[in-house]
Amino acid sequence: MEQLGHFINGQHVAGTSGRSADVFNPATGEVQAQVALASTAELDAAVAAAATAQPAWAATNPQKRARVMMAFVSLINRDMDKLAEALSREHGKTFVDAKGDVQRGLEVIEYCIGAPQLLKGEFTDSAGPGIDMYSMKQALGVVAGITPFNFPAMIPLWKMGPALSCGNAMILKPSERDPSVPLMLAELLKEAGLPDGILQVVNGDKEAVDAILDNETVQAVGFVGSTPIAHYIYSRGCANGKRVQCFGGAKNHMIIMPDADLDQAADALVGAGFGAAGERCMAISVAVPVGEETADRLIEKLVPRVEALKVGPYTAGADVDYGPVVTAAAKESILKLVETGVAQGAELVVDGRDFSLQGYEDGFFVGPHLFDRVTPDMDIYRKEIFGPVLSTVRAQTYEEAIGLAMDHEYGNGTAIFTRDGDTARDFANRINIGMVGINVPIPVPLAYHTFGGWKKSGFGDLNQHGPDAFKFYTRTKTVTSRWPSGIKEGGEFSIPVME
Ligand code: NAD
Repeated sequence: MEQLGHFINGQHVAGTSGRSADVFNPATGEVQAQVALASTAELDAAVAAAATAQPAWAATNPQKRARVMMAFVSLINRDMDKLAEALSREHGKTFVDAKGDVQRGLEVIEYCIGAPQLLKGEFTDSAGPGIDMYSMKQALGVVAGITPFNFPAMIPLWKMGPALSCGNAMILKPSERDPSVPLMLAELLKEAGLPDGILQVVNGDKEAVDAILDNETVQAVGFVGSTPIAHYIYSRGCANGKRVQCFGGAKNHMIIMPDADLDQAADALVGAGFGAAGERCMAISVAVPVGEETADRLIEKLVPRVEALKVGPYTAGADVDYGPVVTAAAKESILKLVETGVAQGAELVVDGRDFSLQGYEDGFFVGPHLFDRVTPDMDIYRKEIFGPVLSTVRAQTYEEAIGLAMDHEYGNGTAIFTRDGDTARDFANRINIGMVGINVPIPVPLAYHTFGGWKKSGFGDLNQHGPDAFKFYTRTKTVTSRWPSGIKEGGEFSIPVME
């Protein structure tokens, strides 16, 4: 059985806590590896070593740090297939989708090559007589990233790229469900020239997370995962005086106006609802057709598309639309929610409950489900299902449709499909959700913009990647400097003002 440990001070090391977790191949249901779960003592030792290594890294000029990122980009491209294969094997998503996972992370590393420009400070010449004033963006020190299972390459790369480019050392605590790719990325960063101790990958569960939150050396925590954990980490991290940003769960609505191209909308919905088995925080999980006629026509177009979805293991190649969900527990919780949907009166128009794949009976496959006539009081509407289940809530008017999305507790992403520019503009302006698509179902911003949800999908005040990441991982120091020929005046006792 493969044993996965930690990556500390530039080397793979075995865990010493005596605790470990099973890592499954979700397609077969087999345990393929065991991952060590770090103790508080192991976490603290990793932080201490990172703190020793960090000042020299911060003192390396930004261009040299950017060159490490440049080399990292080449190495990720060199190993793209290897990374994607390991990712599919542990996560279950298709090979093409796994490559997309790596690619969307890689794009943030490409953005980080611009760190010297992004880290430039501000300077005011002659702010007063003989006085200059300048601001510097300095590294925080040791920071931590805690990441979810569903994007095991992209989200660790979103964390490590900006944090390291700014001169910090990082403790990365990836998901214990699929830890291999983060370990491989750490190896590649070493090969790219990152000094030892600057990226410490510490595998673990709640014990390691709590140790991060309570360690006084850790200055900032960037988290991505479910909302209850996001809220917990935000509260405890802030209470301990850290800078914290936490991104949580989602329930993304797509509004389909009567003037929309319904074939286009139906194609968008199956891709955005069922891609990666619905295990994406930007997946569309609620379709909101406006008007009964739009709803009837949309369901008519959706049913054959959903029924035709091909579910299978990543090894089956390009013919598969989506793979298994990550664990047996995830499968069970999805199917349980489907049952509540039926019990609470929603119409299950495509029923995937009996889905089974020949030869992969022990895999964690879930068939596609489509619900119609879902209402806002139902559990399947209120909760994040994180599986291949699309719910349709019929709205009579545009106001009712936008109201649904606005009243939902989550605010990660949303989309509107329409041919009317006025409606689209109104929607983009009024909606209280962080990322909006207009005829684009999954509006994940590119690396040089920022990514972040509102309401219970995001805690903290800066987004991920783009310029916000460089603000999150630095602090500003402002220097007021005077070089007179001689400082002769006596003490001044009132606040200096400009006259
Ligand atoms: P999760 O919250 O279970 O785990 C996320 C991280 O928190 C993992 O590293 C895990 O080890 C740790 N963790 C789990 N339980 C903990 C506890 N009790 N105390 C301390 N730490 C704990 O999330 P997941 O299942 O890995 O990921 C799926 C969730 O992440 C979904 O809700 C999805 O919407 C969300 N997500 C959000 C975004 C976003 O940007 N908003 C992106 C991707 C995923």
